[in-house]
Amino acid sequence: MRAIRCMKASIFSKLAAIVLIFASISSNAKPLVLSSLQPLTLIAQEITGTAANVDTLLPLTASHHDYPLKTSDHTRLKQADVILWVGPELESFLQKPLGNLEANKIITAYALAGIYWPKSHNVGAHKDSHDHAQDPHLWLDPRNAIVVARALTEKLANIDSINSTYYRENFRLFDEKVQKLDEKLKASMKPLAGIGFVVYHEGFGHFVSHYDLKQLDYVTYTPEQKPGARHLHQLRLILANEAKCIFLEPYGDTQSARDLAQEFKLRTAVVDALGSQNVSNYSQLLERMSDAFLTCLTN
Ligand SMILES: [Zn+2]
Ligand SMILES: [Zn+2]
Repeated sequence: MRAIRCMKASIFSKLAAIVLIFASISSNAKPLVLSSLQPLTLIAQEITGTAANVDTLLPLTASHHDYPLKTSDHTRLKQADVILWVGPELESFLQKPLGNLEANKIITAYALAGIYWPKSHNVGAHKDSHDHAQDPHLWLDPRNAIVVARALTEKLANIDSINSTYYRENFRLFDEKVQKLDEKLKASMKPLAGIGFVVYHEGFGHFVSHYDLKQLDYVTYTPEQKPGARHLHQLRLILANEAKCIFLEPYGDTQSARDLAQEFKLRTAVVDALGSQNVSNYSQLLERMSDAFLTCLTN
């Protein structure tokens, strides 16, 4: 009897020890933020610091408008503690998979209260048939980066309350830093007002509107679409008369834009709205973009 009771007790204490070990593993694990795109990752990293991990769903070379999710991507979505994406207006391929997940762990940037939107679409008199939903490339307005960062801060403070002060302090520093940079960029790009240019795809409305730049047109509406004949006709008139520069992008096939630049003897510069080229933080993404505009539009 005694021996059996003793064995039972020892099995019980072993089980208890195992349970304790598992409990401590799960409480020590850092929360995982999975963001859809690199620029959202850059914003998230400012808040998570060393207290949470951030991972990016899409590879840097993938199109941010259309991406075939792999089985492993679905697993990553399930395992993440927080998912940060723009919304169905940009990453339509995520709408269905996210619909099956717990809504509480998803931050949809496009739907956040307080997001700033560009002044009306300033692409002259074009008559394309696309609908004019708001430009979803919203991270290109620094004020929106702050709105997104604030939402993530509160989400993390909620699920990882032990680090809430740390997340909120990171947010305060990010907010301050981005506002300072914004003032600096406004001042440096002020002389560019009124100098016309064309972008490769219609993805820069937030930057253009916030910094009062003069975008005349785009080559293609999204990188996946081929521009129509009527659009190209209008574009050529603009390139011949008003444009100083065509902005190319580091991803996708921008050969058609390069050909146009050559034909009309226009300058080109690469703008990297996704921070895909050795950009290590959000401020750097904005600074590199501003450098590209300054270089191409200044004599
Ligand atoms: Zn339009
Ligand atoms: Zn885009």
